[in-house]
Amino acid sequence: TDADAASTAESNALRTPIVAVLGHVDHGKTTLLDTIRGSAVSEGEAGAITQHIGATAVPLETVSEMAGDLVDPTDFDLPGLLFIDTPGHHSFTTLRSRGGALADIAVVVVDVNDGFQPQTIEALEILQRTGTPFVVAANKIDTTPGWNPNDGRPIQETYEKQSQNARSRLDENLYEIIGDLSDEGFSADLYWRVQNFTKNVGVVPLSAITSEGIPDLLAVLMGLSQRYMKEQMAVDVTGPGAGTVLEVKDERGFGATVDVVLYDGSVRADDEIVVGGIDGPIVTEVRALLQPRPNAEIRVEKRFDKVDEVRAAAGIKIAAPELDDAMAGAPIRVVRDRDIEDVIEEVESELAEIQVSTEEE
Ligand code: GDP
Repeated sequence: TDADAASTAESNALRTPIVAVLGHVDHGKTTLLDTIRGSAVSEGEAGAITQHIGATAVPLETVSEMAGDLVDPTDFDLPGLLFIDTPGHHSFTTLRSRGGALADIAVVVVDVNDGFQPQTIEALEILQRTGTPFVVAANKIDTTPGWNPNDGRPIQETYEKQSQNARSRLDENLYEIIGDLSDEGFSADLYWRVQNFTKNVGVVPLSAITSEGIPDLLAVLMGLSQRYMKEQMAVDVTGPGAGTVLEVKDERGFGATVDVVLYDGSVRADDEIVVGGIDGPIVTEVRALLQPRPNAEIRVEKRFDKVDEVRAAAGIKIAAPELDDAMAGAPIRVVRDRDIEDVIEEVESELAEIQVSTEEE
């Protein structure tokens, strides 16, 4: 029947890849995320942007508007990209999914002038250890002496418009980064020269302030995900959800809530859930699924909208009783038609893994 066909099509849908941003302090992680969020909001048609908790969703349509000629939406069947809003190594290592990293793909931000720094090397080690594919954003190209910015343009277009002097200064810095990557054991090149992203690391020159090269970064992330992660993204987005707790927060009118990144399946407003807590799994029932209200003002009482269902990948706030002892970094699972004992066991064994890995740190 049509209904069956529709539901098969839905459950065959690909989920959004989850993107994390890493790198040395002050190299521009926060600015990069702010810029992507800002342009996603202004490019996205009103209503097309859903607000997420702890993450920024950039739907494919918006990616293609931001990336212009670099992304033809008909080449892709992944729904877009979901950026985790908390950049940095601590959140990357504490946020896990079924033993692996929560993020499917990472951006390592390196200041082109400052080059490799201790936390750059630390980021590469973490990504290698977790087997997470990544690209390098060579940030702050606008600080190259003599640079004339062309806001929001692709890198090669703006590069061609620069003076010979500015170009060679930038080239020098970029080759230093490529050399440092090679010293760390990664064969790397400017992204447009990379044929096989599973063997070589792509370097994307950009500026988080002028947005030059941001189209390229989005195009590379989309292309890499589509090409190499399609199988991994083929989950049943209507099945019982699996996620990771970002944060436990008290919200007026709701009590303790958990902010969650959902990486598999769905959560519905009437689901029974199992959440990892300080003293073990907590079994409870969703009271409300909350998304931030668009343009909510701080003084306005109602800061959240209630929704009936969310599908992976997504950032969502869940209000439920008994969440006071829930733990950041812990797993959350929807029970739905499964045996609750199995779900509790799953959460227990993941909690045990988290304990082991924190002791290793
Ligand atoms: P984080 O510590 O990695 O999150 O770095 P921030 O995003 O806080 O950036 C550190 C500083 O670098 C801030 O003053 C930013 O305004 C500045 N910055 C970040 N990206 C750029 C860029 O592309 N160009 C320029 N000129 N400054 C930048």
